Amino acid sequence: MRLLVFGKTGQVATELQRQADVLALGRDEADLSDPAACAAIIRDSNADAVINAAAYTAVDKAEEEEALATVINGDAPTEMAKAAAARKIPFLHISTDYVFDGKGQQPWKPTDAPSPANAYGRSKLVGEEGVRSAGGNFAILRTSWVFSSHGANFVKTMLRLSETRDTLQVVDDQIGGPTSAADIADALLTMAKAMIGGQQGGVFHFSGAPAASWKDFATEIFLQAGRLIDVVGIPTTEFPTPAVRPLNSRMDCSDLDRQFGIRTPEWRLSLARVLSELEAGG
Ligand code: NDP
Repeated sequence: MRLLVFGKTGQVATELQRQADVLALGRDEADLSDPAACAAIIRDSNADAVINAAAYTAVDKAEEEEALATVINGDAPTEMAKAAAARKIPFLHISTDYVFDGKGQQPWKPTDAPSPANAYGRSKLVGEEGVRSAGGNFAILRTSWVFSSHGANFVKTMLRLSETRDTLQVVDDQIGGPTSAADIADALLTMAKAMIGGQQGGVFHFSGAPAASWKDFATEIFLQAGRLIDVVGIPTTEFPTPAVRPLNSRMDCSDLDRQFGIRTPEWRLSLARVLSELEAGG
């Protein structure tokens, strides 16, 4: 299958390139701040499916740059999905738990009404709506708390901080699913293959199980990495950030298993793989 991937350097884009023979386009070849140019690339390609793994992911900065974030996360995927629909090829897009406001304790279902609490979430929701209404076979994979051995992520931040500190304060009232970029890439490739074969897509949730707090995640990172760090839980209110974070990011991933046979990954096992990659030098 000929897969065209937008994004080259990001966590998920890197894993897609590791796991499959894809044509991955970096910002220099496809800049999502120019949606029409990205759509033209799809129109002129011979791809069997398109995966969009590029996004404006600077959650706090998006509060000041919502217009730019909305072009990259909203308008670009919309135009790209329309171009894919015109070519009758599937369009697979990654979205986020941040389209939900984080209220309650129940895992979010794909059919629950989104209500983003920050600019990044709003920009991603614009993209979701555009992709859904483009008229083609689409998949929107909402994921959360992405980590890998490369790029910027929580695992690497915790390991870096542990080099100079014995105690770390970590938020313990945001609950979600840490998800490895490798598991996301694997899921997207399975979905792309099935959709090229005619299977219908839709909106799906995919995040690591079991649900955990950032403190639980940090504790497990240090346990597996063999670092003796005292992790002290703090409420979100003691760690203010420009963008509001949802407290409840639990996601119900059962639809993906039902429709594509993709099981929910256990994040502790995926973490072990990432840590051994980091130990081996990335
Ligand atoms: P990264 O932040 O690791 O990478 C983002 C990618 O997007 C980079 O390749 C970056 O390229 C590219 N990009 C940014 N702006 C542009 C632009 N204007 N034109 C072209 N490319 C651009 O992202 P992840 O792999 O972590 O995220 C993948 C997807 O998952 C995204 O849709 C994200 O919204 C979603 N997601 C991520 C979460 C997370 O915790 N990271 C949580 C939930 C969802 P460059 O190197 O040139 O900047």
